[in-house]
Amino acid sequence: MSKVLILGAGTAGTMLANKLVKALPPTASITVVDKDDDHDYQPGYLFIPFGTITPERVRRSRKAQLSPKVELVTDAIVSVDPKARTVELKTRTLSYDWLVIATGTTPRPDMTEGLTDERIWRKSAFDFYTRDGAIALKKAMDSFKGGKLLIHITEMPIKCPVAPLEFAFLADDFFRHKKIRHLVDITYVTPLDGAFTKPVASKKLGYVLEDRSIRLATDFAIERVDPETKKLVGFDGREIPFDLLVTVPTNMGAQYVIDSGMGDDLGFVPVDKKTLQSLQYENVFAVGDASNIPTSKAGSVAHFSIHVFVDNFTAAYAGKPMTHAFDGHANCFIESGRGKAMLLDFNYDTEPLTGSFPVTTIGPMSLLKETRLNHIGKLAFEQIYWQMLLPGRHLPVPTLMSMAGKVPAEKTKES
Ligand SMILES: Cc1cc2nc3c(=O)[nH]c(=O)nc-3n(C[C@H](O)[C@H](O)[C@H](O)COP(=O)(O)OP(=O)(O)OC[C@H]3O[C@@H](n4cnc5c(N)ncnc54)[C@H](O)[C@@H]3O)c2cc1C
Repeated sequence: MSKVLILGAGTAGTMLANKLVKALPPTASITVVDKDDDHDYQPGYLFIPFGTITPERVRRSRKAQLSPKVELVTDAIVSVDPKARTVELKTRTLSYDWLVIATGTTPRPDMTEGLTDERIWRKSAFDFYTRDGAIALKKAMDSFKGGKLLIHITEMPIKCPVAPLEFAFLADDFFRHKKIRHLVDITYVTPLDGAFTKPVASKKLGYVLEDRSIRLATDFAIERVDPETKKLVGFDGREIPFDLLVTVPTNMGAQYVIDSGMGDDLGFVPVDKKTLQSLQYENVFAVGDASNIPTSKAGSVAHFSIHVFVDNFTAAYAGKPMTHAFDGHANCFIESGRGKAMLLDFNYDTEPLTGSFPVTTIGPMSLLKETRLNHIGKLAFEQIYWQMLLPGRHLPVPTLMSMAGKVPAEKTKES
């Protein structure tokens, strides 16, 4: 019997375990480790501060999402010894033949000087990338009477890189409905040179920020937060004051990955971007946000990549070559407020473009365009997540990115 050990029962680890149970021979044992039994639908965190999704709604039992043939061990992972093929947990040690790291990213506000100072943290400075942070922020949003609101990205990469933009658009909507929008000065502060990473999307999203009267502060590399004067201080000397700070802290891989010498500077596992196999150890792989592949850290990427990964992993397990290649396919809805959303579709080689998805002309979804249908798609994603993605069911969208329906970048620039 071969032992497959998956570290992390979040989006990627759960999907993978449920798919491997069907793909591997019955002699394989599949064990998943996570620190608790709380599986959160993280895209739901975005809506908690606005009161449109409750904290209870985003959380379900991890065990209930896993096939009964998968063993779930609830414990904290402390370190991996890849030579001995063992993983040390807080209370016991597990051995493996095959290891898959799926422990995602962790927001680390402690990495920015001054941010977690008790005078401001969760009083006037918040994150919404954790359930607790989103709950605390809801109270602050409800009681905010006006002033300077900053929505801030500390550094890239972060998971779901569109989520802070969505927060900005939803905040505009929220304060308009409260009839105090004219009292709230919103600035989007980013280390990037525009609203988003790639030229076509950056331009389109920049227009939406402008349309909502949201200021854009670009190329902002934060040095520290001054808790006394409530200012972000940049390495270039710029100071940006706030009354309410909504920040996305540095996102890092799990600490045990760093402590075990298996990660890069930010704790992400270096892998082959096509097969997700560790560059250091043949029997080690990393899926989901935990790897260093150069695409978005997103649930959609975990879904597309795992589809390809399972074929490769079962081949490797059987001693055969891995012949399938993941292309970095990502597909992200962007809530833009006012009951509409946009959609991005891209991969390692093709930037997000305008056009229709998944089919030429017919769509029905529009890329990089605000539509009601995209918004309905975003809302529907919650049920798709629980009912289809996590159980490892097939979704009727292409796994690898297709150019069908996309308008090339040169044509977008002309129009
Ligand atoms: C606000 C927000 C909005 C988002 N919106 C979208 C969206 O619209 N679309 C989209 O595709 N994606 C979205 N995402 C991103 C998506 O949720 C993640 O990319 C996805 O969850 C990654 O899956 P993962 O399995 O790699 O990591 P996770 O789902 O985070 O799972 C990692 C698991 O590892 C466990 N773990 C970590 N360290 C340890 C340890 N030392 N010991 C034990 N267990 C450990 C954690 O408990 C966790 O369960 C959003 C994320 C956020 C925060």
